[in-house]
Order: sequence, then C-alpha cells, then structure tokens
Amino acid sequence: AIDASLLAQTAAHTPAHTPAMDAFWMPFTASRQFKSAPRLLAKAKDMHFWTPEGRQILDGIAGLWCVNAGHARPKIVEAVQKQVAELDYAPPFNMAHPKSFELAERLIQITPAGLNRVFFTNSGSESVDTALKMAVAYHRARGQGTRTRFIGRERGYHGVNFGGISVGGIVGNRKTFGPMLTGVDHLRHTYDPARNGYSRGVPLHGGPELAEDLERIVALHDASTIAAVIVEPVAGSTGVVLPPEGYLQRLREICDKHGILLIFDEVITGFGRLGAPFGATRFGVTPDLMTTAKGISNGTVPMGAVFARQAIHETLTNVDSAPHVIEFAHGYTYSGHPLACAAALATLDTYAEEGLLTRGAELESYFADALHALKGLPHVIDIRNIGLVGAVELAPLAGLPGKRAFDVFLQCFDLGVLVRTTGDTIAMSPPLIISKAQIDQLVGTLADVLKRG
Ligand code: PMP
Repeated sequence: AIDASLLAQTAAHTPAHTPAMDAFWMPFTASRQFKSAPRLLAKAKDMHFWTPEGRQILDGIAGLWCVNAGHARPKIVEAVQKQVAELDYAPPFNMAHPKSFELAERLIQITPAGLNRVFFTNSGSESVDTALKMAVAYHRARGQGTRTRFIGRERGYHGVNFGGISVGGIVGNRKTFGPMLTGVDHLRHTYDPARNGYSRGVPLHGGPELAEDLERIVALHDASTIAAVIVEPVAGSTGVVLPPEGYLQRLREICDKHGILLIFDEVITGFGRLGAPFGATRFGVTPDLMTTAKGISNGTVPMGAVFARQAIHETLTNVDSAPHVIEFAHGYTYSGHPLACAAALATLDTYAEEGLLTRGAELESYFADALHALKGLPHVIDIRNIGLVGAVELAPLAGLPGKRAFDVFLQCFDLGVLVRTTGDTIAMSPPLIISKAQIDQLVGTLADVLKRG
C-alpha cells in the first residue's frame, strides 16, 4: 500500500511553473497539464534520475527507450569529453573523420549478416526519411522508376518528418498536417487482444494471415509501383504491439516474391531491447534496410543510422558519371558528428563488456513474470512483453481516452518511478542494466498505483 504522507511530501517538492518557462515550446507535451505541475529532471546516473530538489526517480523507460546502458556511464562520458576537446566538428560532405569509419565498421559486426553499409543521421525520424529515399532511388537506379509507393502499417510510428508520418499509422500525428506523401497504403496492425491477449513474448495467432494484407495491396496497385514496406518489428510507441508468429517471415517472403524492399524500423527494437542485438536478429528475418537511432549512442548525443544491404549501396553509388559528381544526393550537416561517433563507440564497448545486447534475454522471463502478475488488478485489460520491453493496457475512462494511463504515469512519478504512457497503455523499457530488485520496484510501484483503482 502507498504511504499517503510520502505522496503528499513528494508532491510538495514539485517546482511551480514560472513565467521563465513560457518561452520553451515543449515537444509532444500536454503543456497545460505540465504547467500545472512541472516535472523537471536535473541529474542522472545508472538507473536513476534526480529532480532539482534531489528526489530520486527510477528510470523505467531508459529515458525514452534510448539509454540502454544506463545513465552517465563513465566510458561514454569520458569519450565525449575527450572528443569535444580534440575534434568538435568535421564537415561530413566530401570529407570525414576517422571515428565515423571506425564506428561503421564496428556496427556492421553486430548487425544481421548482409546489412553492411551504414549511413549516419541524427535521429530516428531522419533515419526513416533516409531509408524511404534510398528505397525509391534504388529502384529508379535499376530502371524501375515506377516503384514509388510505400506501404506502412496502422499503429506504426516512424518519427515525425513528413515521410515518417505518411507511412506511420497514428491518426493523431497526421490529421492536422495536411497532405502527406502520396501513394501510401497501410497494412492492418497486429494488435489483437481478443485472440492474443496476455501473450508472453510472441503471440501465436494471426501472423501469416495479417501479412497477406500485403498481397492484397500488391494486387490493387501492382508490384511494379511499390518501392518498400516499412514496419517496426515490435511497435513500441503505440503500446508494445508484437508481431504474431510467422508474420515477419511472411512479409519477407511476399516482398521477395514481388521485388519490394523490406524496411525494419528498429529505432526502439535495436541495440538489445528485445534480448538480441536487433529485432531482425531476434526474429530471424533480415530486412533490406534497417533504421536505427536511440540506443546507438545510448541517448547521450543525438545519432541515427540506416543499415543497407550491400546491393543497395552498390546500385546507388556505382554510377556512370564523372568522379567528382555526388552519387547519392542526401546527407545532414551532422551526419556522423564526431561527438556522436565517440559516444557510440564507447556505447558499443559498454554493451560488449557488460553483455547488454543479450541481457534482455536473460531477464525476459523474470520481467514477464513480474508484469503478468498484474493481471486481474483494476482496469487491466492486457499485458504484453518481450525482452526488456513490456506494456500494461488499461480500460479507457469513458469519454476520456488516455486519461487513466496518464494519471497512472503521474502517480508513479510521484512515487519515484518513471513509466511511459501511450493511449491507455503503460509502457516500460528500462535500461538493460536493471537489477531484479529494480524490476520488482518498477512493476511493484505500478501495481501499488493500479490497486488504488
Ligand atoms: N521510429 C521509431 C520506431 C521510433 O520509435 C521513433 C521514436 N520513438 C522514431 C522512429 C523517431 O525517432 P526520433 O524521435 O529520434 O526522430
């Protein structure tokens, strides 16, 4: 049970909103609610944040699914400090710095075989738009310029740039922004609590049949018009929605049959989240392009990367033009930024030294046991998990979708635990260094809040 005096005491520590806070237009924020009770984080170490008043918060979501090795890891801190003093910036067009090559080389040692060309970006959204452009350019370079259509999926989240929201399947992120990319269709999502409710790990039902949506879309538009399919191996931001058994395999088969590229958006699922280096590794299905960000640099310095099959890279770079001509007209001022590369190299060291890319597999059943013990608590309608990511879905309050989960998030924060809400689902994706005792604290605090009804 929760000590009411503790709750009152922590609430009293919440700083009041001040006029100085008005200039900052906060991203994806219920800002009226925030202004009424700002939540500030001033410090972080390993599994914890601290508020400006010194209140300790257990980080149950690895920042925002990104700080996979935990906060302020010494090797990463040191590497970034050293790098900023040595080479703060280097232009990435027609030149480079050694760490960008070193990092690319290190990364392809842990990606699925075949994905051995790396293009650096600064975020997941940029990785997604980069991959979409690569897909269209690849087909065009092979004389198949009619292949311009993309197929995304309902409930897909692929960042917030125009390409990403076009292939993404979240109505709220699309509806106020006018026309999207043209020629985009969506597969159905794989959320099916009626058949797959309370599944531990991969759900059993409906995989191949849901993947057949792709055949129906191909029949409608003809394969010769379709560039790529993009899906998250596990949809994170829309409530941890897993691919049922056989689903990704069947998508791969249909793509191969029709010459359509398969893009996995592994911004969340990459770098150990599912108990394997990547979702592709975990599910044994290799895409043609793979988008990443977040865990690549442990969230320390913004970075993203797109991994491509060698054939795609070759097609786009072996062009018949004078040597001084740029082959692929795409890139960012901060592609392969020296600080991001230094952070990522030290991150990879930390992952390797501590076995973090597979630690989620070791903890999966402990985490699953803890989560699934919440079944039967008030308003809980589904629980889903894989590796070190899990979700508890609540029945929405009548007329106020998202409110119940948001209130749970606020109460957990007051009790010193950070979880994430998406719709009426509570998501958890702790740093991969979490201990069993901390899993107990994370899930136990959520249980205490849920028991209040
Ligand atoms: N794709 C996926 C699957 C994501 O989960 C996210 C972010 N949560 C993005 C893309 C966008 O990443 P960013 O916010 O770094 O642009």
